[in-house]
Amino acid sequence: MTFRVDVLTLFPGLIEHYASDTILARAAQRGVWELHTHDLRDATDDAHRTVDDTPFGGGAGMVLRAEPIVRTVEAIANLPRPLIAVTPSGTPFTQTTARRLAQGSGFSLLCGRYEGFDQRALDLVVDDEVSLGDFVLAGGELAALCITEAVVRLLPGALGNDSSVEEESFSEGLLEYPHYTKPAEFRGLVVPDVLRSGDHGKVERWRRAQALRRTKERRPDLFAQHVLTKEDEKALREFPGDEVQNEG
Ligand code: SAM
Repeated sequence: MTFRVDVLTLFPGLIEHYASDTILARAAQRGVWELHTHDLRDATDDAHRTVDDTPFGGGAGMVLRAEPIVRTVEAIANLPRPLIAVTPSGTPFTQTTARRLAQGSGFSLLCGRYEGFDQRALDLVVDDEVSLGDFVLAGGELAALCITEAVVRLLPGALGNDSSVEEESFSEGLLEYPHYTKPAEFRGLVVPDVLRSGDHGKVERWRRAQALRRTKERRPDLFAQHVLTKEDEKALREFPGDEVQNEG
């Protein structure tokens, strides 16, 4: 069964446009996943296709009405669950969430605009609420695209080389080690000798040490959760210094 992602939005064109290129498009062409977009305005009855209204209790801005959302959901046959609303009030989206979603057969995303959703829409039809981070976007479409891309690239056959998702950031609760490509020297910065040594074991230990050190410096919250193994300690002892030698 093809993995299915449904996006409920006021701007289906934004979602379709992004998904029509690069990895999302290639993966869809290969039959790895399929995208279904739904315009919330199609579930309105009035001439202006109104989806928002003023908030009870007063205050600035408009609120997305519950009815078009609930009607849209009810009109979709076989809507993939969970249906996730994207909102700054949701649980933070992480690589762990992406991996969990990639294990299923699909999911759906509800994009907000204005001040957000009438709470009753969330109560009636939404399974989960997810945030992209501690900042406020103008609408949920970018969040929906980020989530979709993070999940679809994990699906078998989505990337040319499936092993490339196994060693990347967060795959083991650590940030990734630094990468280098040709030339060996650029503007006085030289690629670490170890990467050109041909010693695969040494390269692996160097990368592990860099990943550990980088995570400790940049994401102490992640590092605090990591239990150092004997191999980790060995790698850190073997490579205590900086990775880039400046010979300029
Ligand atoms: N009044 C809301 C609040 O303070 O939480 C912000 C609403 S925001 C202007 C409009 C829509 O953008 C939200 O309903 C949500 O769908 C989306 N959005 C904004 N920031 C987001 C984030 N960090 N993560 C996920 N979605 C976000």
